Amino acid sequence: MDIRAEKDKFYAKLGEKGLKATTQRADILDVFLRSKQHFNIEGLLAMVRRKNPRIGYATVYRTLKLLTECGIACERDFGDGQTRYEHMTGDAHHDHLICLECGGIVEFENERIEALQDEVASRHGFEVMHHKLELYGICRQCASKRDKKR
Ligand SMILES: [Zn+2]
Ligand SMILES: [Zn+2]
Ligand SMILES: [Zn+2]
Repeated sequence: MDIRAEKDKFYAKLGEKGLKATTQRADILDVFLRSKQHFNIEGLLAMVRRKNPRIGYATVYRTLKLLTECGIACERDFGDGQTRYEHMTGDAHHDHLICLECGGIVEFENERIEALQDEVASRHGFEVMHHKLELYGICRQCASKRDKKR
């Protein structure tokens, strides 16, 4: 999906729900579609407020929910009690490495892992609709900091 298609999809969703296409929603959409991070609602709110200081938490929250329903945003839970959102650019699937020390997130794609997962599922006669693979540990930077302390 390109940005134009994503916008069309979002506005179609608003129409479907009988919601108005307000300037605030358009501003949130703009900021979100240009983002490439994994952020929580406060993070997006801070970015959005640089563009439009009058936007509130609830509007950002509801807009993110709508974007998630459209498949434009994806909700991520990396186990620290914070829901994060990320922009699903294109159809590219990826999985995550999450650092338990600094909270840093690295994205990866590995065809062999993907193929193995499909193989396991089909062996069980299981049809996979979607999946997420999250590896938790210590990132390179944090590991080297640890080594220096020793
Ligand atoms: Zn995967
Ligand atoms: Zn780290
Ligand atoms: Zn990601």
